[in-house]
Amino acid sequence: MTSNEKTIPGLHHVTAITADAQKNIDFYCGVLGLRLVKLTVNFDDPGSYHLYYGNELGRPGTIMTFFAWPGAYRGRIGPPQVTVTAFAVPMGAIDYWSKRLKEKGVEVQAVVERFGERVLGFTDPDGMRLEIVSSVEVVEPKGQPWAAGPIPVEQAIRGFHSVTVSEEGYENTAKLLAEVMDFKFIGSEQNRFRYRAGTGDGFASTVDLLCVPDAHHGGMGAGVVHHVAFRTKDDAQQKAWHKEIAGKGFNISPVMDRAYFHSIYYREPGGVLFEIATSNPGFAVDEPVEKLGTKLMLPPWLERDRAAIERAVPPVRLPTSRA
Ligand code: ZN
Repeated sequence: MTSNEKTIPGLHHVTAITADAQKNIDFYCGVLGLRLVKLTVNFDDPGSYHLYYGNELGRPGTIMTFFAWPGAYRGRIGPPQVTVTAFAVPMGAIDYWSKRLKEKGVEVQAVVERFGERVLGFTDPDGMRLEIVSSVEVVEPKGQPWAAGPIPVEQAIRGFHSVTVSEEGYENTAKLLAEVMDFKFIGSEQNRFRYRAGTGDGFASTVDLLCVPDAHHGGMGAGVVHHVAFRTKDDAQQKAWHKEIAGKGFNISPVMDRAYFHSIYYREPGGVLFEIATSNPGFAVDEPVEKLGTKLMLPPWLERDRAAIERAVPPVRLPTSRA
């Protein structure tokens, strides 16, 4: 077990692939009501967008991000991957969402109950699998939604509820979560094993391992999650995590400067790419809170290439505040 010098209170962000930045923006802002908190480029591939959505401030635990690969082929959803990303809404908001998604032409599945919570499944325009969960754990003001967005605050998405990680065999991943990353086993339903971050306030803290030994393997592409990031408080805690995870024999990247957080990456035993990202410095580091996501932002080391980058990325129509 780890000491309490370093903690992982839950998820930081989920990053997936979209083939169409505009449709992606229209869906996540226009339909789901998230705020575009940063329009930037993929720092490892500056000719393509990296879109960040979140709550008002883009708080860790609320951040859904996409690499936009124009015209990318659809990937295949299957192990080893994060196969479902779930957002939390307040108790009683499921019927609102079911109605809203249908009105917007989104095909929704029948509401199911899981671990005592109501779950609504649907897909985004790239076929990415999403859920909205009415959660008893929605605690104000942890996931303060974007007040100027299109969804009434009472119903709005608070942040992540959980990710579902599908694995051919879940035991080694479970061991990593429980024995290294301080997650606690909560319970199981059929082939689903629920873990929750053992430290922190419970916000965006759930990981479900889905054991699917007979499923077809997934493949990267549009509509597929690229990686999931867990949050840790600061650079000192991240350094301690780096040491611990490397010490357990994992091949872990050096610290990468992602401008809005700092990242380390490692592949968990089942093959899913995990990241640990710092909660600092956050999205207001290079533009004021009221202007988040309103223009293309570049980190200092890419600013000199701005003209070429702006020519390379397709123009997008950015969301406006509630009309
Ligand atoms: Zn990431």
